[in-house]
Amino acid sequence: MQFTYQGQTYTYTIVRKRMKNIILHVRRDGTVYVSAPPAAPETVIHRFVEENGARLAARITDVTRSRQAEPDFTDGSQIPHLGEPVTLHYSDRPCPTVLTDGVLTLFARTPEEARLSHRRWLVEECVALYKCINREVSSAFIQAGYDVPLARIEIKEMRSRWGSCTARTGRISMNFRLMQYPLGCIYGVFYHEYAHFIHMDHSPAFYAVVRQLYPDYDRYDAILKRKEK
Ligand SMILES: [Zn+2]
Repeated sequence: MQFTYQGQTYTYTIVRKRMKNIILHVRRDGTVYVSAPPAAPETVIHRFVEENGARLAARITDVTRSRQAEPDFTDGSQIPHLGEPVTLHYSDRPCPTVLTDGVLTLFARTPEEARLSHRRWLVEECVALYKCINREVSSAFIQAGYDVPLARIEIKEMRSRWGSCTARTGRISMNFRLMQYPLGCIYGVFYHEYAHFIHMDHSPAFYAVVRQLYPDYDRYDAILKRKEK
């Protein structure tokens, strides 16, 4: 089946499911699937798809663009690391993954192996880096006279937020995906989450604390706001 939006034709597939409503999905490869109840006539489904044409077309563009922006992990390709592009170099013999002068050397023969080696390396880098920043930010708050703990850091891969703070348990969750952004952005999220030990909300008083301790906050926060998580 096909629908047209602003002169562009898109294809969609209908999947019949035991459900009450018609639901639209755009998969990661940009294809459109429409789940529909067994008895829904095709004309009704088609009208529903056309009515949602603008939303679907926007979603397809988004998905396609973010997939194109994803690194392909081929030998010589580039991946973002702490806000800078690094070039992947496949080593043909087993070796530890190392980053020197913007070149990340890892043992891989295929992009899939490279993706795995890169991920293992990045997890280790992330644990070490977040641990250091955590100590530094906690000390900065204490030196400024605030009563904060040394937070327990949980590293998570989150889609909708960069970090979160549970003041009651002294725990901060930090998004693993921040590792591709400049160090200043990672500091910004740490200062933001630590300020929640003082203020649980996002009031002017909260931001006053963040900006007092981290004057560059707005600049780096703007970088994260421009990006899709
Ligand atoms: Zn917050």
